[in-house]
Amino acid sequence: MTIILKSPREIELLREANQIVAKTLALLAEKIEVGCTTFALDALAEKFCRNCGAEPAFKGYRGFPGSLCVSINEQVVHGIPSKKVVVRDGDIVSIDFGVKYKGYYGDAAVSIPVGEVAEERLTLLEVTRTALYKGIAQAIPGNRINDISQAVQEHVEKHGFSVVRQFVGHGIGSQLHEAPEIPNYARSERTPKLMAGMVLAIEPMVNLGTHAVDVLRDGWTVVTRDRKVSAHFEHSIAVTDGEPIILSELSV
Ligand code: MG
Repeated sequence: MTIILKSPREIELLREANQIVAKTLALLAEKIEVGCTTFALDALAEKFCRNCGAEPAFKGYRGFPGSLCVSINEQVVHGIPSKKVVVRDGDIVSIDFGVKYKGYYGDAAVSIPVGEVAEERLTLLEVTRTALYKGIAQAIPGNRINDISQAVQEHVEKHGFSVVRQFVGHGIGSQLHEAPEIPNYARSERTPKLMAGMVLAIEPMVNLGTHAVDVLRDGWTVVTRDRKVSAHFEHSIAVTDGEPIILSELSV
Protein backbone atom coordinates (compact mmCIF):
# COMPACT_ATOMS: atom_id res chain seq x y z
CA MET A 1 0.00 0.00 0.00
CA THR A 2 1.26 3.44 -0.84
CA ILE A 3 1.65 6.13 1.78
CA ILE A 4 -0.55 9.13 1.01
CA LEU A 5 1.13 12.49 1.66
CA LYS A 6 -1.16 15.24 2.91
CA SER A 7 -1.29 18.87 1.79
CA PRO A 8 -1.16 21.70 4.37
CA ARG A 9 -4.93 22.10 3.91
CA GLU A 10 -5.49 18.41 4.66
CA ILE A 11 -3.18 18.56 7.68
CA GLU A 12 -5.27 21.47 8.99
CA LEU A 13 -8.45 19.35 8.64
CA LEU A 14 -6.71 16.43 10.34
CA ARG A 15 -5.72 18.80 13.13
CA GLU A 16 -9.34 19.89 13.54
CA ALA A 17 -10.51 16.27 13.70
CA ASN A 18 -7.80 15.40 16.21
CA GLN A 19 -8.60 18.42 18.37
CA ILE A 20 -12.15 17.08 18.74
CA VAL A 21 -10.63 13.76 19.84
CA ALA A 22 -8.31 15.54 22.29
CA LYS A 23 -11.20 17.52 23.79
CA THR A 24 -13.28 14.36 24.13
CA LEU A 25 -10.47 12.50 25.89
CA ALA A 26 -9.90 15.47 28.23
CA LEU A 27 -13.60 15.51 29.08
CA LEU A 28 -13.60 11.76 29.77
CA ALA A 29 -10.49 12.06 31.94
CA GLU A 30 -12.32 14.64 34.00
CA LYS A 31 -15.54 12.62 34.32
CA ILE A 32 -14.15 9.15 34.89
CA GLU A 33 -14.60 8.02 38.49
CA VAL A 34 -15.07 4.96 40.64
CA GLY A 35 -18.54 3.53 40.02
CA CYS A 36 -19.10 4.83 36.50
CA THR A 37 -19.82 2.33 33.75
CA THR A 38 -17.84 2.11 30.54
CA PHE A 39 -21.19 2.48 28.76
CA ALA A 40 -21.62 5.94 30.33
CA LEU A 41 -18.15 6.96 29.11
CA ASP A 42 -19.02 5.78 25.62
CA ALA A 43 -22.28 7.73 25.60
CA LEU A 44 -20.51 10.87 26.78
CA ALA A 45 -17.84 10.57 24.07
CA GLU A 46 -20.39 10.05 21.33
CA LYS A 47 -22.59 12.94 22.43
CA PHE A 48 -19.66 15.33 22.80
CA CYS A 49 -18.16 14.58 19.39
CA ARG A 50 -21.52 14.84 17.64
CA ASN A 51 -22.04 18.23 19.30
CA CYS A 52 -18.72 19.25 17.71
CA GLY A 53 -20.07 18.21 14.30
CA ALA A 54 -18.02 14.99 14.11
CA GLU A 55 -18.99 11.35 13.80
CA PRO A 56 -17.59 8.65 16.08
CA ALA A 57 -15.21 6.75 13.79
CA PHE A 58 -15.11 3.42 15.61
CA LYS A 59 -18.88 2.92 15.80
CA GLY A 60 -19.72 0.17 13.35
CA TYR A 61 -16.10 -0.07 12.15
CA ARG A 62 -15.85 -3.73 11.14
CA GLY A 63 -18.89 -4.15 13.37
CA PHE A 64 -17.45 -2.62 16.57
CA PRO A 65 -20.49 -1.93 18.77
CA GLY A 66 -19.33 1.23 20.59
CA SER A 67 -17.97 4.69 19.85
CA LEU A 68 -15.17 4.42 22.41
CA CYS A 69 -12.75 1.59 23.10
CA VAL A 70 -12.49 1.22 26.89
CA SER A 71 -9.90 -1.27 28.10
CA ILE A 72 -9.42 -1.78 31.83
CA ASN A 73 -6.32 -3.26 33.51
CA GLU A 74 -5.36 -6.52 31.71
CA GLN A 75 -7.37 -5.42 28.69
CA VAL A 76 -4.93 -3.99 26.15
CA VAL A 77 -7.16 -2.43 23.48
CA HIS A 78 -10.62 -2.71 21.86
CA GLY A 79 -12.60 -3.18 25.09
CA ILE A 80 -16.33 -2.93 24.38
CA PRO A 81 -18.29 -0.39 26.44
CA SER A 82 -20.89 -2.05 28.64
CA LYS A 83 -23.48 -1.20 31.28
CA LYS A 84 -22.12 -4.16 33.24
CA VAL A 85 -18.53 -2.93 33.39
CA VAL A 86 -17.95 -0.59 36.31
CA VAL A 87 -14.74 1.35 36.93
CA ARG A 88 -13.19 0.43 40.29
CA ASP A 89 -10.71 2.02 42.64
CA GLY A 90 -7.15 1.26 41.53
CA ASP A 91 -8.02 0.57 37.88
CA ILE A 92 -6.13 1.86 34.92
CA VAL A 93 -8.59 2.66 32.17
CA SER A 94 -7.38 3.02 28.59
CA ILE A 95 -9.66 5.08 26.40
CA ASP A 96 -9.12 5.15 22.64
CA PHE A 97 -11.30 7.43 20.55
CA GLY A 98 -11.61 8.29 16.88
CA VAL A 99 -13.74 10.72 14.91
CA LYS A 100 -14.47 11.61 11.31
CA TYR A 101 -14.75 15.33 10.66
CA LYS A 102 -15.09 17.01 7.25
CA GLY A 103 -13.88 13.81 5.61
CA TYR A 104 -10.78 13.34 7.80
CA TYR A 105 -10.04 11.18 10.79
CA GLY A 106 -8.70 11.84 14.26
CA ASP A 107 -7.42 9.06 16.54
CA ALA A 108 -5.79 9.18 19.97
CA ALA A 109 -5.72 7.29 23.26
CA VAL A 110 -4.76 7.79 26.90
CA SER A 111 -4.62 5.53 29.95
CA ILE A 112 -6.04 7.01 33.13
CA PRO A 113 -5.41 5.90 36.71
CA VAL A 114 -8.60 5.92 38.81
CA GLY A 115 -8.55 6.34 42.57
CA GLU A 116 -5.65 4.89 44.51
CA VAL A 117 -3.46 3.13 41.97
CA ALA A 118 -0.51 0.83 42.73
CA GLU A 119 2.94 2.37 42.21
CA GLU A 120 3.89 -0.24 39.61
CA ARG A 121 0.85 0.67 37.52
CA LEU A 122 1.66 4.37 37.67
CA THR A 123 5.19 3.59 36.50
CA LEU A 124 3.75 1.59 33.59
CA LEU A 125 1.62 4.58 32.57
CA GLU A 126 4.54 6.98 32.77
CA VAL A 127 6.87 4.69 30.80
CA THR A 128 4.24 4.17 28.08
CA ARG A 129 3.52 7.88 27.77
CA THR A 130 7.23 8.70 27.59
CA ALA A 131 7.78 5.92 25.02
CA LEU A 132 5.13 7.55 22.83
CA TYR A 133 6.94 10.89 22.98
CA LYS A 134 10.30 9.24 22.29
CA GLY A 135 8.74 7.66 19.21
CA ILE A 136 7.24 10.96 18.08
CA ALA A 137 10.64 12.67 18.41
CA GLN A 138 11.97 10.29 15.74
CA ALA A 139 9.27 11.29 13.25
CA ILE A 140 11.50 13.58 11.20
CA PRO A 141 12.43 13.49 7.51
CA GLY A 142 15.39 11.25 6.75
CA ASN A 143 14.52 8.80 9.51
CA ARG A 144 12.57 5.63 8.83
CA ILE A 145 9.48 4.14 10.48
CA ASN A 146 11.85 1.75 12.22
CA ASP A 147 13.44 4.66 14.10
CA ILE A 148 10.07 5.35 15.72
CA SER A 149 9.55 1.67 16.54
CA GLN A 150 13.04 1.28 17.98
CA ALA A 151 12.77 4.37 20.20
CA VAL A 152 9.50 3.09 21.67
CA GLN A 153 10.80 -0.43 22.23
CA GLU A 154 14.09 0.67 23.78
CA HIS A 155 12.42 2.93 26.31
CA VAL A 156 9.87 0.30 27.29
CA GLU A 157 12.32 -2.59 27.61
CA LYS A 158 14.81 -0.47 29.55
CA HIS A 159 12.14 -0.34 32.25
CA GLY A 160 11.48 -4.08 32.13
CA PHE A 161 8.09 -3.87 30.41
CA SER A 162 7.14 -5.34 27.03
CA VAL A 163 5.59 -4.00 23.82
CA VAL A 164 2.64 -5.68 22.17
CA ARG A 165 3.49 -7.10 18.72
CA GLN A 166 0.10 -7.97 17.23
CA PHE A 167 -1.27 -4.46 17.10
CA VAL A 168 0.48 -1.49 15.52
CA GLY A 169 0.15 2.20 14.76
CA HIS A 170 -0.85 3.38 11.30
CA GLY A 171 -1.09 6.18 8.79
CA ILE A 172 -4.28 8.25 9.07
CA GLY A 173 -6.06 10.63 6.72
CA SER A 174 -9.29 10.29 4.77
CA GLN A 175 -9.17 6.68 6.01
CA LEU A 176 -8.90 5.66 9.66
CA HIS A 177 -6.17 3.14 8.92
CA GLU A 178 -3.73 3.90 6.11
CA ALA A 179 -0.23 2.77 5.27
CA PRO A 180 2.34 2.57 6.75
CA GLU A 181 2.11 0.22 9.70
CA ILE A 182 4.01 1.48 12.73
CA PRO A 183 5.03 -1.39 15.03
CA ASN A 184 6.25 -0.68 18.54
CA TYR A 185 9.24 -2.98 18.07
CA ALA A 186 12.17 -2.81 15.70
CA ARG A 187 12.17 -4.97 12.57
CA SER A 188 15.06 -6.19 10.48
CA GLU A 189 13.42 -5.49 7.13
CA ARG A 190 13.61 -2.12 5.40
CA THR A 191 10.86 0.26 6.55
CA PRO A 192 9.57 3.38 4.73
CA LYS A 193 11.47 6.66 4.90
CA LEU A 194 9.67 9.46 6.70
CA MET A 195 8.68 12.47 4.60
CA ALA A 196 6.98 15.80 5.26
CA GLY A 197 3.23 15.40 4.72
CA MET A 198 2.95 11.97 6.32
CA VAL A 199 0.34 11.80 9.09
CA LEU A 200 0.82 8.95 11.53
CA ALA A 201 -1.00 7.52 14.53
CA ILE A 202 1.73 6.26 16.86
CA GLU A 203 0.36 4.07 19.64
CA PRO A 204 2.50 2.06 22.04
CA MET A 205 0.64 -0.70 23.88
CA VAL A 206 2.81 -1.72 26.80
CA ASN A 207 2.41 -4.71 29.10
CA LEU A 208 3.68 -5.08 32.63
CA GLY A 209 4.47 -8.76 31.98
CA THR A 210 4.65 -10.80 28.79
CA HIS A 211 4.06 -9.18 25.41
CA ALA A 212 1.73 -12.03 24.40
CA VAL A 213 -1.96 -11.17 24.03
CA ASP A 214 -5.22 -12.99 23.33
CA VAL A 215 -8.55 -11.88 21.93
CA LEU A 216 -11.57 -12.70 24.11
CA ARG A 217 -14.57 -14.60 22.80
CA ASP A 218 -16.44 -11.34 22.15
CA GLY A 219 -14.16 -11.11 19.11
CA TRP A 220 -12.78 -7.69 20.11
CA THR A 221 -11.32 -7.36 23.58
CA VAL A 222 -7.56 -7.88 23.55
CA VAL A 223 -6.12 -9.04 26.89
CA THR A 224 -2.63 -9.86 28.09
CA ARG A 225 -2.00 -13.60 28.14
CA ASP A 226 -0.68 -13.44 31.72
CA ARG A 227 -3.57 -11.12 32.70
CA LYS A 228 -1.16 -8.54 34.06
CA VAL A 229 -2.01 -4.92 33.34
CA SER A 230 -1.40 -3.03 30.11
CA ALA A 231 -1.30 0.65 29.09
CA HIS A 232 -1.97 2.45 25.81
CA PHE A 233 -1.15 5.97 24.67
CA GLU A 234 -1.67 7.29 21.15
CA HIS A 235 -1.19 10.53 19.25
CA SER A 236 -1.80 11.42 15.63
CA ILE A 237 1.13 13.48 14.35
CA ALA A 238 2.18 15.21 11.14
CA VAL A 239 5.71 14.89 9.80
CA THR A 240 7.03 18.28 8.64
CA ASP A 241 10.36 19.59 7.34
CA GLY A 242 11.21 20.32 10.96
CA GLU A 243 9.77 18.97 14.20
CA PRO A 244 6.64 16.81 14.05
CA ILE A 245 3.32 18.45 14.94
CA ILE A 246 1.20 16.56 17.46
CA LEU A 247 -2.28 17.02 16.01
CA SER A 248 -4.09 15.34 18.90
CA GLU A 249 -2.41 17.29 21.70
CA LEU A 250 -4.96 19.65 23.22
CA SER A 251 -4.13 23.20 22.18
CA VAL A 252 -5.39 25.96 24.42
MG1 MG B 1 -5.12 4.11 16.17
